Amino acid sequence: MDYFHYKNNELYCEETRVADLAAQYGTPLWIYSKRTLLHHLNQIQQAFAAVEPVICYSVKANSNLGILKVMNDAGSSFDVVSGGELYRVKQAGADTSKVVFAGVGKTDEEIRFALENNVLMFNVESEAELDAIANVAQSLGKVGPVALRLNPDIDAKTHAKTTTGKKGNKFGMDIERAEQLAEKVLADKRLSLRGIHMHLGSPILTTEPYAQAVVKAAEVVAKFRARGHDTRWINLGGGFGINYRKQEALPASAYASVIVPTVQKAECRLALEPGRFIVGNSGILVSQVIFTKREGGKLFVIQDAAMNDLVRPAMYDAFHRIWPVNATVPPPEDYEVEIAGCEPTDVVGPICESGDYLAKGRSLPPMQRGDLMCTFSAGAYGMAMSSNYNSRPKACEVLVDGTSHRLVRRRETYEDLVAHEVL
Ligand SMILES: *Cc1c(COP(=O)(O)O)cnc(C)c1O
Repeated sequence: MDYFHYKNNELYCEETRVADLAAQYGTPLWIYSKRTLLHHLNQIQQAFAAVEPVICYSVKANSNLGILKVMNDAGSSFDVVSGGELYRVKQAGADTSKVVFAGVGKTDEEIRFALENNVLMFNVESEAELDAIANVAQSLGKVGPVALRLNPDIDAKTHAKTTTGKKGNKFGMDIERAEQLAEKVLADKRLSLRGIHMHLGSPILTTEPYAQAVVKAAEVVAKFRARGHDTRWINLGGGFGINYRKQEALPASAYASVIVPTVQKAECRLALEPGRFIVGNSGILVSQVIFTKREGGKLFVIQDAAMNDLVRPAMYDAFHRIWPVNATVPPPEDYEVEIAGCEPTDVVGPICESGDYLAKGRSLPPMQRGDLMCTFSAGAYGMAMSSNYNSRPKACEVLVDGTSHRLVRRRETYEDLVAHEVL
């Protein structure tokens, strides 16, 4: 669920008219709903309350400081995957002692930065990384807190580019290696084994992969404890699915019902790293139609948002709901069915690539030059993955709170485009 809705044939974000924001800030424009962000965070906090989890919002889903601040103020912690993301959460005022640091390729500089900021734990993905953390920790006179990232070989049935918990991808380690490395940690005073980490992939719209994963994690924790480790944490990563196509997301309580009992029985602390679930349905991308054209038997709507703004359709074959901002009929509940008055339309951007589209063959009402349109469920991996490809300045971002709103990133200018280059 989210707080974007149509009233009198016009799209609103909470109590704010989307067309007013587009008039004020121009397009393409990212709009985020604070109420939707908090709704999703609260859902997770409440669903898992019985085990007092540490919720580490996954910064890579959307790293805007305005969003990080909302998360921080609401009691969320953070999952970072780079030194840059750690810098961001510090800027947002985060308590870094609750931050977890993930990623297969942490550099010594990033490890040092994280240790200096006393992060809760590193999610360690290889023996070489363990050695690097031990060495840097030693040079700082500290102990490196680690969780071993297991590759549980669970098929989470996501897109090939976003599945991470299957044997053969670059993430994590198998259970045998985790056991070997645990022995190594036990013998090394520069390291302490805090727990087990897994991240299965994304988005996951069933509970089964989590049910399997938490049982595996609990088994491994029990083994480690028997060997004398003070292993307290199970971190199950992120990946909870959202509503892209229709009302298809599970409530957080569904995931909690398969995870919480096992965590309780294992007498562990739980960490989670939700990104998409919190921010995905909280953001939209508003664009304006530049031209329409019919060619080769197709109708094209060419609008001013492109793959440099939202790359998910091109990169993951992702489906995003799209609908005019001003519409006499509300968007369909289900896009699988034929919609009266609509015509199959390719929604494309101005970039010189055939991969530059937001939707193909989508049933849409007639659109005209100047019309505003909305791409929904774009809050996660939207702006965060945007680029300046084709020398397009990045769009601006606005955070709405009821009837008020605030610019949380200004639109880039042509000067910004060349600011770091040297003639
Ligand atoms: C990307 C990622 C997440 C967040 O995934 P979502 O699908 O956005 O919830 C969490 N943990 C790790 C390690 C990740 O790489």
